[in-house]
Amino acid sequence: MVDSRINRRRIVAAALAGAGSALLPRVTFAAEDRPRYASDPFSLGVASGYPTADGMVLWTRLAPQPLASDGGMPPVDIHVHWEIAHDLNFTRLAARGITRAEAAWAHSVHVEVRGLAPGRHYFYRFRSGDAVSEIGRTWTAAAPGANVDRLRVALASCQHYEQGFFAAYRQMVADEPDLIVHVGDYIYESGTNKSPVRKHPGDECYTLADYRLRYSVYRTDPELRSAHAACPWMLTHDDHEVDNDYANDHGEKIEPKETFLARRAAAYRAYYEHLPLPRRARPRGPDMLLYTTRHFGSLLSLHMLDERQYRSLQACPPAGKNGGARVYEEECPEMNAPARTMLGSTQERWVDEQLAGSRSRWNFLAQGVTFTRSNEATDGRHRYWSDAWAGYPAARDRLLRDIVRHRVPNPVVLSGDIHAFIVADLPKDPADPNAAVGLSELVTSSITSPGPPDFVVAAYERMKPQVWYADGEHRGYLRIDVTPNRLHADLVAVDDVRRADSACHVLASFEIEAGTPGLRRV
Ligand code: FE
Ligand code: CA
Repeated sequence: MVDSRINRRRIVAAALAGAGSALLPRVTFAAEDRPRYASDPFSLGVASGYPTADGMVLWTRLAPQPLASDGGMPPVDIHVHWEIAHDLNFTRLAARGITRAEAAWAHSVHVEVRGLAPGRHYFYRFRSGDAVSEIGRTWTAAAPGANVDRLRVALASCQHYEQGFFAAYRQMVADEPDLIVHVGDYIYESGTNKSPVRKHPGDECYTLADYRLRYSVYRTDPELRSAHAACPWMLTHDDHEVDNDYANDHGEKIEPKETFLARRAAAYRAYYEHLPLPRRARPRGPDMLLYTTRHFGSLLSLHMLDERQYRSLQACPPAGKNGGARVYEEECPEMNAPARTMLGSTQERWVDEQLAGSRSRWNFLAQGVTFTRSNEATDGRHRYWSDAWAGYPAARDRLLRDIVRHRVPNPVVLSGDIHAFIVADLPKDPADPNAAVGLSELVTSSITSPGPPDFVVAAYERMKPQVWYADGEHRGYLRIDVTPNRLHADLVAVDDVRRADSACHVLASFEIEAGTPGLRRV
């Protein structure tokens, strides 16, 4: 809790608001500069993200009582000091400044540091009043075109708090990745699970207060907190940050569009408040600009896509609701309509420009849902899971064609969502499984969320040799080492997701030689 000085200010503010509400259109507060805290306001840790050649985003949120509806903070803006240094003792400062933690944004802080030297490691921390945060580690990207020897990327997805402990993140931190990429289901919006490994408070999220509490619970997890302090992250969302299987302006339930968009606005706002997202991603109502690219010297361009916000509704939804279904193509001609989109026309054009202009050795397209199209039917017909790219074949073909047409160097799709490891090569021509490899896909399993039914994995198994590996038994993440000549990917599995101290082991490893499309098992 904050001391009486701020409480006095709160009382004055209330009095002002009451006395003058008819005359004063709005009461503006001066930001509080010297708050005193009875408990650690940095209870949710620190984070950084989206490195460029001259800076990055630094994040924290003031929340001395992280599970209280106001975070234990008064409704006033607070000044927060930040500093970034070359050394752990902060004797060689690279930059410092003061920013404002706005009450309206849950006292979150998003500092966009600029003007730093490229290709350097840094330490950063925050101060508010007498409270000093833990120290985070981050870095700037190499200068455009500069050589980079190696980059270690960890790929994560689907971390249901109630369905396991985040032991995967402890191993991930021990791996010392340069970058953590999260492709969605960072939270789950639903109420308590039937047999939870651990419980979170709250039922299904609908309001801003609901989503804020859910993020606060997740971020008090010590492993997740330390993973955010360990290195910069880049993120994109999938469905559970808002509502299961939502698409664009429609939730899973059939309800007025305005009702769902109010929920989406609340969910996006809480997402932004709790993550090291760039300022351009700050939501305006129900809209959030999440897709973006970062370049790491001449080694890697990472394109983060948004497959939820602009997509066409899933074709042939289940009776009485919206959302995904297992749909027979033969019974659903609508699924193949050319106008159906996964990314929306604006983002499709943007991706095309990114791909056309990329000079990087490797090009990662990171997004939520599986790109490999697996036929789940065994009766000679074609049954697809309609929420993933399989349910948007025209959009999938367009993206694949763009990649091939622009001769994008070493393209790899990074995906999540299905709670299974899938490693696959995709033919250049979607209609010809024997065509040369056009790109490879690495799907990470879930951090904790339970695996899919057996028939889902079996459908991928039937696609061998195009699919190299399919495993729905294990939770975990992908550890991807990129060098100018080679990509090496380890599928890292958690031994027992019910244990906070669980060890992890490598299930399988795959490589791609730069310039030679296609995976091989090593
Ligand atoms: Fe999930
Ligand atoms: Ca999902």
